[in-house]
Formats: sequence, C-alpha cells, structure tokens
Amino acid sequence: MDRYVVIGNPVSHSKSPLIHSLFAEQTGQAIEYTTLLAESGHFNETAQAFFAGGGKGANVTVPFKQDAHALARRLTPEAQTAGAVNTLYMDGDVLCGHNTDGPGLVRDVLFNHQGTLAGKHILILGAGGATRGILQPFLAQQPATITIANRTVSKAEILAEGFRPLAENIGLRGCGFDDLAGATFDWVFNATSASLQGEMPALPGTIVGTQTWCYDLMYSSDITPFCRWAQLAGAAKAIDGLGMLVEQAAESFEVWRGIRPETAGVLARLRQA
Ligand code: NDP
Repeated sequence: MDRYVVIGNPVSHSKSPLIHSLFAEQTGQAIEYTTLLAESGHFNETAQAFFAGGGKGANVTVPFKQDAHALARRLTPEAQTAGAVNTLYMDGDVLCGHNTDGPGLVRDVLFNHQGTLAGKHILILGAGGATRGILQPFLAQQPATITIANRTVSKAEILAEGFRPLAENIGLRGCGFDDLAGATFDWVFNATSASLQGEMPALPGTIVGTQTWCYDLMYSSDITPFCRWAQLAGAAKAIDGLGMLVEQAAESFEVWRGIRPETAGVLARLRQA
C-alpha cells in the first residue's frame, strides 16, 4: 500500500489521517496515511527517512513548513511564492515541495461559506508559514487592503515588504497588534498558532465590527479561543479552519493521486465526529 504521513510537532491531534482515509474510500485508492512526529530540529532526518523507506508523500504542519521548503529540491510556483511547503512528493528521485494552504483557504471562503475577498479590508494575524502560504492567493482575489499583524513586528513588516511587488493597487502593510487600535476590518484571519496553546493574542476590540467575518485557521472539537473572542466581540461570523483543512487536503490528494475528491460529504462527516 502507498504510504503517506503528516509531519508536525505536535501532530497527534491531526485529522488529516481521517480525511485522507475518507478521500481514499470515496475514490477507491489504496493508501495508508498516518501521523509522524518530528522532534524539534530534526525535521530533515525524519522526512528523509520516511521517503528513503518508500513513503510516497507527506503533508507538513506546524512548525516545519519553512524547513520543508528548504529541504525540497524542486518547488512549485505556489511553494516558491509562499516560501513554505505543506505538501511533499517524489518525482522520480527528486523531492518536490508544493503549498496547498492558500488555495484551500480561498476555496473554503468562496465556495463553502459564499464569502468575498475582492474589495475587502483584510487583517491577517500571524506571520509564519500559514500566512506566507495564503498571501499570494489572497492578493489574487484583489482585496482593497491586507494588513499583517504579528507578535514579532519585524516578521510582519518583512513579509509585507516581500509580497509588495505582487500587490498592485492593493494596500499591504505589516505591523504589531497594538498598531491595530482604532481600525475595523471586513475579515480577520487568525493565522497565529496561539490557539494551539489555548491562547489568544492581545487584540484591540475595535478590529471587529458587526459586519466583520472572523476566521480561525485553527480547528478543534470545542470552539477555539479566537472564535469565542470573535463572537463576544460581535462579529457577523466566526468560522474555524476545518473547511480549510479539508480543502487543502483535497488539493494535496489530487497532487499525489491525480484525482480530486469531493469535499462537502467529508466535511459534514468530520463535523459530526
Ligand atoms: P508558524 O509556527 O509558522 O507561525 C506561528 C505564528 O503564530 C507566528 O506568527 C507567531 O508569532 C504566532 N504566535 C504563536 N504563538 C503566539 C501567541 N501566543 N500570541 C501571538 N502570536 C503567536 O505556524 P503556521 O503559520 O504554520 O500555522 C499557524 C496556525 O495556522 C496554526 O494554528 C495552524 O494549525 C493553522 N493552520 C491551519 C491550517 C488548516 O488547514 N486549517 C493550515 C495551515 C495552518 P511570532 O512570529 O512572534 O513567533
């Protein structure tokens, strides 16, 4: 059976094995998909050993997407622009890196939630691998502005600077959380990993108005701290990242198996689980 994994730390909470087994069942593909914990500082050895042992493909999650980008010998345009890799596969004996996070998130927003990014004022919290992966697909939707706010302010500024050439007629800036006071956004995406520790970045309440849609890239069986905060702040919607997870997984599955699975039924199954 062809073997696939998701590599991360932590990774035991991941729903990717269940999602890919549902895709495999639906499309009649014989695959095995499991979690693979990499110790901090040991991503390369872990990924290389998996592929040397005959592994066919890997998803990469927190905090290794930039390590995966550095490890891959060939990058797709999406992975190159993102500077981060969430999907690894072999092409002959060449390890290739791709990024499906951004396309997956955009699909979830536009198709599953019937949302719009065009012409909107968007705030992204966090400046790590996930933000790198979503910036180009977001810019392609032609929003009015994108603000990246991060705990380490310089990382947000560097990211904004790096993507500015792709942001023709779109206001793009990087800043800290305190700099957001007084501004209100149409969309607030939480792409920090704070929710993984049950935490919430310290944010000014003014960023959310009654028309604001909030989206936590994190998902969990209980409401996430960010979604709870968004509801209390009066947001129009508070969406978690389960739909993004399923959509990015579908994109990875298609890269590996050459067949695109249907996602709505899988998402509904996961919501019931
Ligand atoms: P990274 O480790 O690359 O980046 C983490 C980011 O979170 C950094 O900007 C970091 O700030 C910030 N951060 C961490 N802890 C805190 C905190 N306590 N307060 C404020 N900011 C904090 O992670 P990724 O970008 O890869 O992932 C981010 C999130 O997105 C994760 O929760 C992940 O699970 C989720 N995700 C979900 C996907 C899905 O399919 N639903 C797909 C991809 C990601 P600093 O720079 O200051 O350290």
